[in-house]
Amino acid sequence: MKRFTTIQPPASFSREGQNALIGRRHASRSIARRPTEPASPSVASRRASSSSAVYPLGRASTVEVDALVIGGGPIGLSTAYHLAAMHRGCDGSGIVVVERDPTYARSSATLSAGGIRQQFSLKENVEMSLYGRDFLRRAHELLRSNDDDDDDEEEVDVQFQEHGYLFLAASEGGRDQLIRNNKTQRLAGCNDVTLLGRDELERKFPWLNTTDIVLGSYGERGEGWFDPWALIRGLKKKCLSMGVTFVNGRPVSSRRDAENDGGRVLSVDVLVEDRNVVRYNVNCVVNAAGAHCNGVMEILAGKGGGGHGLAHPIPVEPRKRCIFFIHCNTSQGDLVPKIAPLTVCPTSGVYFRSEGSVGANGETMGNFLCGVSPRRDVDRAIGDMNELDYADHQLWDDVIWPALYHRVPAFGDVKVKSSWAGLYEYNTIDQNAIIDFHPEMNNVIMANGFSGHGLQQSPAAGRAVSELISCDGRFESLDLSIFSFERICNNRPIFETGIV
Ligand SMILES: Cc1cc2nc3c(=O)[nH]c(=O)nc-3n(C[C@H](O)[C@H](O)[C@H](O)COP(=O)(O)OP(=O)(O)OC[C@H]3O[C@@H](n4cnc5c(N)ncnc54)[C@H](O)[C@@H]3O)c2cc1C
Repeated sequence: MKRFTTIQPPASFSREGQNALIGRRHASRSIARRPTEPASPSVASRRASSSSAVYPLGRASTVEVDALVIGGGPIGLSTAYHLAAMHRGCDGSGIVVVERDPTYARSSATLSAGGIRQQFSLKENVEMSLYGRDFLRRAHELLRSNDDDDDDEEEVDVQFQEHGYLFLAASEGGRDQLIRNNKTQRLAGCNDVTLLGRDELERKFPWLNTTDIVLGSYGERGEGWFDPWALIRGLKKKCLSMGVTFVNGRPVSSRRDAENDGGRVLSVDVLVEDRNVVRYNVNCVVNAAGAHCNGVMEILAGKGGGGHGLAHPIPVEPRKRCIFFIHCNTSQGDLVPKIAPLTVCPTSGVYFRSEGSVGANGETMGNFLCGVSPRRDVDRAIGDMNELDYADHQLWDDVIWPALYHRVPAFGDVKVKSSWAGLYEYNTIDQNAIIDFHPEMNNVIMANGFSGHGLQQSPAAGRAVSELISCDGRFESLDLSIFSFERICNNRPIFETGIV
């Protein structure tokens, strides 16, 4: 079987290339580092500091891989897909995705609102979502299986519904912000977002209370929502057809190069299906474990197994976010939105959107999703994952329902049909992504901290990570250096005003 390293390896995928690229990329940074020396596996193993494996290593269970991707959610899958696509000459077998829960019962993606928008204030966030938009529009073709024998293959349908996002401003400050954001969005290549005055809003959305609104920003195309599960399934099937290996397991320990200051990870022991441990000798590791990225980082750093942990943990916390599925009494006629774009209420930040499609005869079905982020002073990391077993109904009673009723009077007559909770992978520094090598483990790439917009950014994030790995540590398609880890180390947050 062909692997990256046995056929004309891209420079960055060979150990030498990796070391060179890491040294080069960080040379210009304030985090001082020396390029790591190339090490043959035998020398490396002598030098390695091993975190004591908790589980016995099974027999004949050492595997050489180019990229070990930890976390098989949209970010990990997109990374694997883009890596395999970038190295078409190879068969993908050097890429391994480790996912501890193939049912995705508690992954952020499957519990999310499935939204995508270009309405951000940072150019890079707009650009990432533009790529996401294009990817979703072409998903049926991009994710068509490589397997020629698979004649019965079902076409991937991510059910991208381009019904838009509507941001509303109720103050002069809010209006100025929407105008500034609109300029940024246009400069970034997004021309589908229109600013609407109160009259236009009333004409377009007759169910909306606009009495206190000064401006709206509406993305008519390119924004909306899609089925996260279908994207996960489609990416996984495609990756499988490209030769990517999937492992149902989780990392339990690692070995690192103790003598070189690059601190590279040499191997990762993965407990597979709670039975055997397989050792993966790695060229690089991608941390795509979402809200649990720090647990993975600790294992890679060797903490708890005699290692020293990290001076720079990832500032990402698992924070609970709730979604309520509601039904509105449709006998109220035109007062009930037939199709509501994802509408973000000013001040409260409460959002709602239609769920499901309109009826066969064009009638309103009256189903909506809604939610809100908790107030800053009560928003915190959760330690006990059982908290995800229930949504916070106090939030519905005290914040969401009053805001909905004010914005759409018909929502005075609604019923909560169901609710659930998931995790934001919340970057406590600036609520933006971190896409970079870790300064203390220079073959570990973080793709973390997307803080509630990682699903829509997963196509661009996966492409960016695969470029870092394959293109001498550089971004090629989009310059995403703004999402560096250096900003975290130097406490230089980048603020996005369009966080929902
Ligand atoms: C309520 C809610 C609404 C949201 N709405 C939106 C939205 O509208 N639009 C949007 O773009 N984003 C939204 N998000 C955010 C989005 O879901 C995340 O940003 C996105 O899922 C991040 O992708 P990921 O692959 O990093 O993480 P995940 O989707 O969480 O996937 C990570 C995977 O890693 C696995 N994993 C974790 N630890 C380990 C380990 N130790 N070993 C092996 N595997 C491991 C997990 O099982 C999981 O499957 C929302 C999130 C929530 C909670």
